[in-house]
Amino acid sequence: MRSLDDLLAEGVSGRRVLLRADLNVPLDKSTREITDDGRIRASLPTLQALREAGARVIVSAHLGRPKGTPDPQFSLAPVAARLGELLGVDVPLAADTAGDDARAKAAALRDGDVLLLENVRFEAAETSKDDAERGELADRFAALADVYVDDAFGAVHRKHASVFDVAQRLPHYAGRLVARELEVLTRLTTDPERPYVVVLGGSKVSDKLAVIEALLPKVDRLLVGGGMCFTFLAAQGHGVGTSLLEADQVDTCRRLLAEAGGRIVLPVDVVCSPQFSADAGSTTVDADAIPEDQMGLDVGPRTVELFAGELAGARTVFWNGPMGVFEMAPFQAGTRGVAEAVARVGGLSVVGGGDSAAAVRVLGLDEDSYGHISTGGGASLEYLEGRELPGLAVLAD
Ligand code: ADP
Ligand code: MG
Repeated sequence: MRSLDDLLAEGVSGRRVLLRADLNVPLDKSTREITDDGRIRASLPTLQALREAGARVIVSAHLGRPKGTPDPQFSLAPVAARLGELLGVDVPLAADTAGDDARAKAAALRDGDVLLLENVRFEAAETSKDDAERGELADRFAALADVYVDDAFGAVHRKHASVFDVAQRLPHYAGRLVARELEVLTRLTTDPERPYVVVLGGSKVSDKLAVIEALLPKVDRLLVGGGMCFTFLAAQGHGVGTSLLEADQVDTCRRLLAEAGGRIVLPVDVVCSPQFSADAGSTTVDADAIPEDQMGLDVGPRTVELFAGELAGARTVFWNGPMGVFEMAPFQAGTRGVAEAVARVGGLSVVGGGDSAAAVRVLGLDEDSYGHISTGGGASLEYLEGRELPGLAVLAD
């Protein structure tokens, strides 16, 4: 896989570079203001390096899930403005994705200039299952530039025109962010330093069963919290009240517990509430004594202590998924406690997942105390499952 440094060594001054970035930031529903610009910041190192080397940079990106047609709600205009502020230069936005305006603006670029193309998902072909449809769009992308750099780690698990097909049409390179994510994921999968502890939370166990199956043979401990722990508690024969429960996964969880031979660690206490609400009051109960009319919305303080103890001596940690409904103040303590314990880890600590990364920032924890905060939740989980990611496979060609 050729790197950005390979491209810089070839010389990129005056050349037009199509840079696929992951600028899919959360926007406030009413004001359309960016609420967390983490992904824009993460894309700056590659962009800056290209500009400084005199490249003419054409950035492509997606935002949200428009329905394959232009929709002002999903315009990249706020992203162009923020990117311009962070770079300290004007970043014009093409009115289309790979049409007349994109072509005209790309042709007018001078060395070191940056152009942002409008949301790639305004083109239905971007996400099409039909190779020919994606190919036609990829031809238009390729016509804009001389080389292609993929730095959109959060999209490498997608076989999309701007990620997969365009790379087959231009000399292609991995950007700094993609290279960094890959380096970290390789360390997690190839001979990780031990003890290796994985912490999983979040809402749905079915989303994460594949990654549990893949990781179980490799880890020393798998700590399970969040909404997914209740299906495991049910598999142990405990009542879980009105907590999240995926009844059709109970048998699988029972088999995983048996296979794990004690390496899966479950909560010992749970913060419950009669309703999914911040104002309905909360009580902490033992994990095997959840009242029938209550739902578990966070792990309790004894669980935080137990998990922190497991994490204390770890040399490699991967954490994905909040321990509770951290969006509501009464149910934040579990996620905060585990996040703090992960931050204290001496070896490599990796946080993966959009909501987990957001929790680190929302709870005011120091991002620098983690070895790596992944920008791509879905992509990193699919990598850890051992699946081939189309956007990476095509770069390796
Ligand atoms: P990530 O984006 O980090 O991969 P997920 O998307 O899997 O994480 O899960 C995040 C969501 O899980 C959060 O919105 C959080 O509120 C929810 N969650 C965590 N614990 C519970 C629980 N006990 N009951 C219901 N939802 C929960
Ligand atoms: Mg999520």
